[in-house]
Amino acid sequence: MSQEALRLLPSVDEFLKRTSLQTLIARAGRDAVRDRLREVLQDFRQELLSQNGSALSDETSLANELEKRLQARFVERRQLRTQRVINATGVVLHTNLGRAPLSVEALAAIQEVASGYCNLEYDLTTGQRGQRGTGLEAMLRDLLNCEAVAVVNNCAAAVWLVLNALGEGGEVIISRGELVEIGGSFRIPDVIAKSGARMREVGTTNRTRLSDYENAINENTRVILRVHPSNYRIVGFTEKPTLNELTALAQKHELPFFEDLGSGSLIDLAPLGIRDEPTVGHSLAAGVPILAFSGDKLLGGPQCGLIVGEARYVKQVKSNPLMRALRVDKLVYAALEATVAAYANGTAAQVVPALAALHATAEQLRLRAETFVQTARAKLSEGFSFNLLAGASMVGGGSAPDVQLPTMLVQVTHAKFSANELEEHLRAQQPAIIARITDDQLAFDLRTVTAAEEVELLAGLQALGD
Ligand SMILES: *Cc1c(COP(=O)(O)O)cnc(C)c1O
Repeated sequence: MSQEALRLLPSVDEFLKRTSLQTLIARAGRDAVRDRLREVLQDFRQELLSQNGSALSDETSLANELEKRLQARFVERRQLRTQRVINATGVVLHTNLGRAPLSVEALAAIQEVASGYCNLEYDLTTGQRGQRGTGLEAMLRDLLNCEAVAVVNNCAAAVWLVLNALGEGGEVIISRGELVEIGGSFRIPDVIAKSGARMREVGTTNRTRLSDYENAINENTRVILRVHPSNYRIVGFTEKPTLNELTALAQKHELPFFEDLGSGSLIDLAPLGIRDEPTVGHSLAAGVPILAFSGDKLLGGPQCGLIVGEARYVKQVKSNPLMRALRVDKLVYAALEATVAAYANGTAAQVVPALAALHATAEQLRLRAETFVQTARAKLSEGFSFNLLAGASMVGGGSAPDVQLPTMLVQVTHAKFSANELEEHLRAQQPAIIARITDDQLAFDLRTVTAAEEVELLAGLQALGD
């Protein structure tokens, strides 16, 4: 009878004395465990009342069930916390998985500036108050040959801030082919509206001419905007003016020409087949006077948005009252400077993890996949089988949507478990393993997995048992 089972339920205080709960109490705190226990008890009571009788009729089995549910609540909570995961999807800049992993150098820089005090706004030469980001600015000036730099929270913030600083109260001219949504609800028309500028659309979805821009210029025009369509491509019967043409037009009318590059690579990735991602250097060389790009897309650094270009425009951006609300902290500067330093000394393709992953060749990935499968076959139970399959990795982060980087996938099947069951099991590991499911098969793409993580992949599979 359920009423009997209710009487057998322990009191909160009694239950918290259980030896098996003491580790949890030490880790999560007594109050938290007590609060969760009350919730679990309440649910359990409801359940017992709505059932006619319980399968659990003695005190011990009831208590054990209670503890199982209590521990499960804490596991659920734990899964919500920000934690390391293994990205076995092969999507290099996986936005849901935190985009770019940081380089060893960037991590060391964070550790160094954050474990004590640092010169964030202190000039070590004069002993006076200094400005944030002067070191980064000097590095980028040399690397990119630009006049000035501002760093904000992300590229979305950069676009909004530049449009607000330069365009508020006036018109921003943009081609209809560039009114895109980047993902995560970043829509260009909405951002323009929120910047306080009015959007002046020109041309058509597939074709916009220089004369369309020129005809739209009037006394209210404040900015000419170009947006890289990122995760979207218009192909076929298309036309748009070159950066040089738009630069010349803007100069003629003494207007700022602002380009949102999105990813904005610092190096040319065409040799990897990534041809559609504009480089920052290319835009600057074409004379674009102010542009914005992400720190954690192809650059491979921490989340931030970089604004670079002519001093007169960057100065206007920096003096905007909302610059303060969007600025980044010392951790971001430390990581960003270390990342940019790798570009300056020519080691970026090796030491910046996202770039290194993009540079991995099909041959290297095939060898890694073969070795992995050999080890897996030797170590894991008979239930598993492994298969190599040529496939493609994606750049991710809304960059180069049509680029497929050749890779070698490791397909994993199990005699007793479906692909979805395997996926769920791997996701429950610590660290969680995020795999791909293609054609109803679970697969690992080692492009985004480090050598150390391969060992964890094996352990994750092994934990499934026989
Ligand atoms: C990704 C992207 C953004 C937003 O960048 P975040 O750094 O994610 O804020 C803005 N514009 C373009 C063109 C993009 O590709």
